[in-house]
Amino acid sequence: MSKEVNEMSSAPEERDVYSYSHPPRNPTPEERNVRQWTNHSEQTFRSYGASEKNPGTAAYRHCVPPGLVWRWQKRSRRYRTLEGLFFEVRKENLYQEKTIMEGFNLLRRILVIAVILIAVSPASAFDESSSSRDVGMPDVTRSSFVFDRSGVQPLWSLDNKPTLYLVSNSHIDTQWNWTVQDTIREYVPRTFFDNFKLFEQFPNYKFNFEGVIHYMFFKEYHPEAWPTLQAYVARGRWKLAGSWINAIDPNVPSSESLMRQALYGKRFFRREFGAVSRDIYLPDSFGFPYSLPSIARHSGLISFSTQKLRWGSFIPAPFAVGRWEGVDGSSVVAALRGGNYVQEVRSDVSIDKNWNADLTHLGNGKKVGFRYFGVGDMGGAPDATSVQWVERALSNARAEARVLNTSADQLAQDLAPEDYAALPVYKGELVMKTHGVGCYTSQAAMKNWNRRNEQLGDAAERASVAADWLGGSPYPSDKLRNAWTRVLWHQFHDDVTGTCIPQAYLFSWHDELISLNQFSRITSDATGAIATGLDTRVKGVPLVIYNPLAMDRRDAVEATIHFEKQSPKAVRVFDATTDREVPSQILSSGGDIVKILILADVPSVGFKVFDVRPADAASAMTSRLAVTERSLENARYRVRLDENGDVASLIDKDAGLELLKAPARLELLDDKSVEWPAWEIQWEAVSKPPRAYVSGSQIKIVENGPVRVALEVTRSADGSTFVQRINLTEGLRHPFP
Ligand SMILES: [Zn+2]
Repeated sequence: MSKEVNEMSSAPEERDVYSYSHPPRNPTPEERNVRQWTNHSEQTFRSYGASEKNPGTAAYRHCVPPGLVWRWQKRSRRYRTLEGLFFEVRKENLYQEKTIMEGFNLLRRILVIAVILIAVSPASAFDESSSSRDVGMPDVTRSSFVFDRSGVQPLWSLDNKPTLYLVSNSHIDTQWNWTVQDTIREYVPRTFFDNFKLFEQFPNYKFNFEGVIHYMFFKEYHPEAWPTLQAYVARGRWKLAGSWINAIDPNVPSSESLMRQALYGKRFFRREFGAVSRDIYLPDSFGFPYSLPSIARHSGLISFSTQKLRWGSFIPAPFAVGRWEGVDGSSVVAALRGGNYVQEVRSDVSIDKNWNADLTHLGNGKKVGFRYFGVGDMGGAPDATSVQWVERALSNARAEARVLNTSADQLAQDLAPEDYAALPVYKGELVMKTHGVGCYTSQAAMKNWNRRNEQLGDAAERASVAADWLGGSPYPSDKLRNAWTRVLWHQFHDDVTGTCIPQAYLFSWHDELISLNQFSRITSDATGAIATGLDTRVKGVPLVIYNPLAMDRRDAVEATIHFEKQSPKAVRVFDATTDREVPSQILSSGGDIVKILILADVPSVGFKVFDVRPADAASAMTSRLAVTERSLENARYRVRLDENGDVASLIDKDAGLELLKAPARLELLDDKSVEWPAWEIQWEAVSKPPRAYVSGSQIKIVENGPVRVALEVTRSADGSTFVQRINLTEGLRHPFP
């Protein structure tokens, strides 16, 4: 309660600023041409790698053809006066990325001391308690199968007259064939102002809009119109939809991200409008995981809608309206055949079977349907003719179906418990063949940085809670929320998926790196504050290792140790708590720096001090690790490579089981996608037998110590060189002292 009051009372000072245009400007004709060229090029970006002559930048190497790099470099000079600052910042960040990654790896390897068990979950650091018009989180663990109607606001008591829920839509792809600058300059204001005009023209029209980041943009760039929007929301004309930061791809992001989409999205809605939406609204995303209903219910959401499955799914939509049950048995009301989200209305939908025939029967003669109408993908408002037809349907006294022009979550709110119980049920994945095949391997940098942000953000938060609890440094709630929000909006269904034009990724990479920098700094500050409270008086160099996972952990940890003088010949590492030696090996050394690998035990979300002592000889500790040019082995597994360099056998010694049916081989396949070659691999292409395999190998042992053994396999095929490292660490079964 007190926290909620504090947050609400501090609202006027709080700003959500995510600026991308300074000031907004229209793209030049040449820029538009370049966009056209890049998106419809027959060249497949993923097929390009860096060449020796044109190594590009670390980021470009992942996903941009060398020719495009040249064009961009040329453009960056040409538009230096316009975008010079941007490119300068970007260069800076690409440089910083290396530093961040080093910091990140260090963090990952890390650990620090002290048995500090933090029993505080990240989410509990935020207050998501209900506002007056919000509802609390349903107790899904208590009775997950029972529909929780607490706090819902039924609009209609369903009777035996068919009822069609008609949801107006304006779809904005925050980035796709354009960048976020176009969205801010053109698509966002068009959406808000055009619908304001429709409200004045048509008294019964109600508009439904998702994507909290679009609201944030509108507030930032058009503050003078914000009170108008708040008034329309309060009057029920403007319907809040999809409580997430953006209409994201729900397959790539972690569950932590999906929960935070609702955490921060609802927070903004509640702060600005005193209300929230209770649905996940994803008309255009490329498939939906089995976990989504469970995540929705744990976020206080009760419904879900889409129309994308009609594009080509592995499993055709099992129903128009039904109950989608998640992995833990909790479920949401799901509308899976919403029709085309850019559908115009050109008939009276209350009597047109094309609109009101796909209904779900609830028993006792009750039937319900759910359909979108509207525009996309550049925002705006439904055309006036559509709204005229909708108004006619709303007032048709001879309607065959009652039409409700309302929000996407209203249907779920109107269902009585017996209606909910009567819904057809589906349990499982809703994944797609179309789009959902290739996009998950394109723009690898985005996937990589998104994941690193998710991990580093979580580690930063846990360390910050510990630092605050110990009085070391205050919990940086605003910084964490801002860093997370930048990551969350780029999880958009055309962004992290890799389906945007290359120009869009300049903004995406920029934001990902800003958040990495922010999370890295927060983590450094918090772990530094905690380390100052630890007893680091050891014989050698103190090393603090931090385990951000919510479980006790024994793992191989890499660390870079700085000695005061020349680096020693060897080191031995001791657990400062017990003064017992732990297995260690040197990875490299030079000057006053030694990179080491140690096997460390660190408690759940804990910090622990280790002692790295110079020595004349390496640790004499032994392990069960063994390696030859054809095999690796630890206490649990035996791995064998064949003459091609493929892993041909993986034996679980405890279970006495061979885990591979056949060697794990690298395949060469032809990708002849035509319409979206930059990112789509067709299902038919990946289903065909491979054209060839990568074979013929050079294998060498690159690591051989008591903590880790590794083989490096180098092969060539079709002009490409493949280098793989296969390593095995000593694991939990090692008889640790
Ligand atoms: Zn879209």
